Amino acid sequence: MSDPINVNGNCHCGKIKISAKVEPGMVIACHCTDCQQFSGAPFRPVVIIKKDDIIVEGQVTEYSKIADSGNERIQGFCGTCGCQLYARAPDKSVFNVRTGFLKQHHTLTPAKHIFGQSKVAWIKTIFEGKWHVAGPDSDEMKP
Ligand SMILES: [Zn+2]
Ligand SMILES: [Zn+2]
Repeated sequence: MSDPINVNGNCHCGKIKISAKVEPGMVIACHCTDCQQFSGAPFRPVVIIKKDDIIVEGQVTEYSKIADSGNERIQGFCGTCGCQLYARAPDKSVFNVRTGFLKQHHTLTPAKHIFGQSKVAWIKTIFEGKWHVAGPDSDEMKP
């Protein structure tokens, strides 16, 4: 297993800051239907962190959901900008932190993929579409 790394990030509006020590092998991509619905994205990568290794600063808004398994999961997000921050156990023992807002997210490669049964049908062909380096208003996109 590789050495733990320090990560940090904040929500889009900056009201909430999270820093943590993480094991790179604890990054997973979740392809469950709840992740797809909450995020609007095909999957959400998370890193699993024990409570002693994470510091959350700022007022997080939380929403409780009951999984198909019957387990309660608390979804944490910024009530101002909507940035998705984590899912946690009801007793706060473990946090699954969304990696997208962490400054180090490019280095947090998922070691595992879960809920592959509900992965989007096009995930394997994602590189077959045309890729542009910039956004919809860039020169490249002009006809
Ligand atoms: Zn925010
Ligand atoms: Zn999920």
